Amino acid sequence: KDLTKTPFYPEVKRKLRSIFSLTTFRPNQLEAISTTLSGEDAVVLMQTGGGKSLCYQLPAVCDTGKTRGVTVVICPLLALMQDQVDALKHKGVDVAYFMSGQNTEESDQVTRRLRSKGNRPRIFYITPEKFKHSSIVLHLLNEIRDDRELARFVIDEAHLVIKWGRDFREAYKYVECLRTNFPGIPIMALTATATQHVKEDLIRILGIRGCKVFWQSMNRPNLNYEVRPKKSVEQAIVQFIRTYHPNETGIIYARSRRICEELAVKLRDSHGLKARHFHAGMHPRDKQDALDQWQSDQCKIIVATIAFGMGIDKPDVRYVIHHDLPNDLDGYYQETGRAGRDGKPADCILYYSFRDVTARRRQIRDNQDCDVSEREHQEQEIFRVANFCSNNVDCRRTQVLAYYNETFDPILCDNGCDNCRDPSGIEEEDVTDMTIKIIRLAEVLIEVGKQNVTSTQLLEVLWGKSNAVANRMNMQSHELFGSGRDMSRDRTERIAHRLEYMGIFRTVSRQNGEWSTAYLEV
Ligand code: ADP
Ligand code: ZN
Repeated sequence: KDLTKTPFYPEVKRKLRSIFSLTTFRPNQLEAISTTLSGEDAVVLMQTGGGKSLCYQLPAVCDTGKTRGVTVVICPLLALMQDQVDALKHKGVDVAYFMSGQNTEESDQVTRRLRSKGNRPRIFYITPEKFKHSSIVLHLLNEIRDDRELARFVIDEAHLVIKWGRDFREAYKYVECLRTNFPGIPIMALTATATQHVKEDLIRILGIRGCKVFWQSMNRPNLNYEVRPKKSVEQAIVQFIRTYHPNETGIIYARSRRICEELAVKLRDSHGLKARHFHAGMHPRDKQDALDQWQSDQCKIIVATIAFGMGIDKPDVRYVIHHDLPNDLDGYYQETGRAGRDGKPADCILYYSFRDVTARRRQIRDNQDCDVSEREHQEQEIFRVANFCSNNVDCRRTQVLAYYNETFDPILCDNGCDNCRDPSGIEEEDVTDMTIKIIRLAEVLIEVGKQNVTSTQLLEVLWGKSNAVANRMNMQSHELFGSGRDMSRDRTERIAHRLEYMGIFRTVSRQNGEWSTAYLEV
């Protein structure tokens, strides 16, 4: 169907230019806009930086289509909302918002504007938790609807409806009821997280079966992905930046606030690089200051925890470095996704060591704020990350996109990742024999000793080292004692860790600061 032939196309095109100063659409934008203007529901799955905001901001300012009036945007992220509101005001769009932290006078003023029939704001932003506290909001929306001035509902970052549904149950009850409370008012949900189940859950929760779904590959063709062994990581990072990106903008993600601060100081003081740290524990003023400096190019490198990035839109980030493991592959995708928004080539380098997996597991286990099932979920996620890092054969894109259930043909990677460039980086070797030895040894140690062993203890016995477990069970005379000597330690260790990620060994408990593993199944 030719969308330039719809009755509202001329108005859409006019406002695209006059308000947004743009001339063309990105993939799926016009499709999504036309859908909502003709009164239909839409789910828009678009990668970060793909241009989701235009999909609802442009129809909101169009004086055409089946529905016109106020576009109500439910946005769970305050910072994002603030940015959007500022940008819209700057463009001269009449916008209003409800968020926590507003005083009575401010919210009274918003209410007044929303009640002025025929003169209401184009866009009304609201956080989900605001619904919770105010039947006033529902009242207002009904009034607007009764005046036939309720154009549509938009749910931005809609995957959070699912993710946070538990935390904001009260608030999301209203989101779930939008369709029943406001029949006939079109709904548009937007998200960058495009797994099949997120999509299905969204459609079910919002009650918009039969909606149009706009989907596009999550592949970011201009990003180069690499995983490197984590050795002398600080030197490696400096070397990388100096060689490939001197004086260019970058982000370094680190696990903890302490690492961020220390690394930023080192990069600055010992290596003369323009770096600053950023994390959630900083005073808001210092955060803003670091952000301003980075955004205005006075500081080139931001060393940050994952607190950094939501709603940050700097187009010329030339590299994203992971000093530590991301918590899950979605995090990895989102964090690396902040590179190369301008479409020009950018590098994503992850420094991996097995010790980081262990450290992260310890952190998960020690976090008493989460219940058991949440901790198990997080552990599964870190195993997937570890699998991704230690797989140096399959295309990185194929692996990451598989997380979102997207099938990606590695041919299309076009040498855009380390594994595609150098598939011969490792020689293939049949490790069946060693794998069987490790599993049998685990069986012996666990079954016979009726206890848990740590993977370190297991490997020591395999290498013929007498430790407490070996002594207690008289392993020295067992055929498997030292049977791993004919393979390099590095390799046996990798096989054992691989078996662990694959769930063949399962963590049972923690003793003396180390993980115990028990034999599960083969
Ligand atoms: P998302 O919310 O999907 O991450 P945004 O809506 O913030 O993405 O848009 C990302 C960037 O792309 C913004 O700088 C925006 O101005 C730009 N952009 C969006 N649509 C277009 C377009 N049709 N043409 C050019 N630039 C666009
Ligand atoms: Zn590849």
